[in-house]
Amino acid sequence: MSVLVQKFGGTSVADKECMERVLVRVQRALEQGHKVVVVLSAMAGETNRLLTMAKEWSDRPDPAEMDVLVSTGEQTSIALFTMLCKDSGVKARSLLGHQAPITTDCAFGKARILTIDHERINTLLEHNDVLVVAGFQGADCNDRITTLGRGGSDTTAVAIAAAVKAKECEIYTDVDGVYTTDPNICSKARKRNFITYDEMLETASMGAKVLQIRSVEFAKKYNVPVHVRSTFSDSPGTLVTKEDKRMEAVMVSGIALDKDQARFTLQGVMDRPGIAAAIYTPLAEAGVVVDMIIQNTSREGVTDMTFTAQRQDLEKTLEILEKVKQEVGATDLHYDTNVCKVSVIGVGMRHHSGVAATAFNALKDENINILLISTSEIKITCLIEEKYTELAVRTLHDTFELDKGPYGG
Ligand code: ADP
Ligand code: ASP
Ligand code: MG
Repeated sequence: MSVLVQKFGGTSVADKECMERVLVRVQRALEQGHKVVVVLSAMAGETNRLLTMAKEWSDRPDPAEMDVLVSTGEQTSIALFTMLCKDSGVKARSLLGHQAPITTDCAFGKARILTIDHERINTLLEHNDVLVVAGFQGADCNDRITTLGRGGSDTTAVAIAAAVKAKECEIYTDVDGVYTTDPNICSKARKRNFITYDEMLETASMGAKVLQIRSVEFAKKYNVPVHVRSTFSDSPGTLVTKEDKRMEAVMVSGIALDKDQARFTLQGVMDRPGIAAAIYTPLAEAGVVVDMIIQNTSREGVTDMTFTAQRQDLEKTLEILEKVKQEVGATDLHYDTNVCKVSVIGVGMRHHSGVAATAFNALKDENINILLISTSEIKITCLIEEKYTELAVRTLHDTFELDKGPYGG
């Protein structure tokens, strides 16, 4: 049995006309002899509407009930789409996360998938041609509904593809692939024919929401070929795949940006063993994802500690820092939300030098001040003032000539 997983995002299932377009894609896959697992997101705007509604009801919505609420968006999509399938004679049935079952940990709002019952999915596929699965949701070991974080339907799709050993996981969206940078910000962005798992991981972790980062982690771990493509055109998309020699030849293959950032500084903390642990342990325990960390050199046994975290965790982070401030002897606590991360990414950086200097010079020429810098083997990230985001992205895109180059076609 050849199984294909096709995932459709919110704009692809926004209304009946869109869903009819989706049905055509699914029928094509059936004609090619595949059984199809269709993973759907909530209709465009629906998850945001539900999140806003929860805030109108409660100042601090209960996280477990929040997941019961926001997961209904996907439930609506799969029911409506399965009706269309049946009306056109396709043997289909819908499946909620807990019916699959997809089990997760109990981190409401950002749960991680633990297991997927592939035997049950395979059995259901023997009796149906199409399974329509609700993305973004699962259930924990107490049978409570959980959701996987924004963009989580990508992860549902790739995880199912890994579990049933699907031929490929197709991610249908509103752009026709993964671009050298966000096409909605830089008009010169170019669609790439392929991207390595590692580059895609860095791109996704830098906030390019075209694929949720956990979906790429699954794809890499289980070697699932992921094809990102448009619901609205037939052009071939971008294959997310293993690295090969042609990819190493190019230094820089993309620019990513992340506006969901805040910078925090604890000033005048004592420079002695255990200080970093005292600051970052309670943050980790509260589920705050800390990213760039800079500790200044010490003057007279005193130093400054600066880091970035997601803006959505601002209040939680400030609450914790107010508590640890005393413990680490900090004199002041500052934070800033008008910041943005811009990253230059490319597997070729492993073998080429000078990328960082070129990027810093390009930003200098535009008079853009760099607030923080961090690097990995295949990425250089600069934190800058948010108002310069678009300018920085376009400048770096031009500097590394990403609108030309042979890579990605
Ligand atoms: P869906 O609802 O289909 O899941 P998303 O909105 O989650 O779609 O993701 C697609 C969006 O990702 C695009 O509309 C685009 O604005 C954004 N994006 C950011 N960076 C990139 C990139 N490098 N390549 C393609 N799209 C990108
Ligand atoms: N509906 C969820 C969201 O908007 C999940 C998804 O679309 O992937 O984040
Ligand atoms: Mg998405």
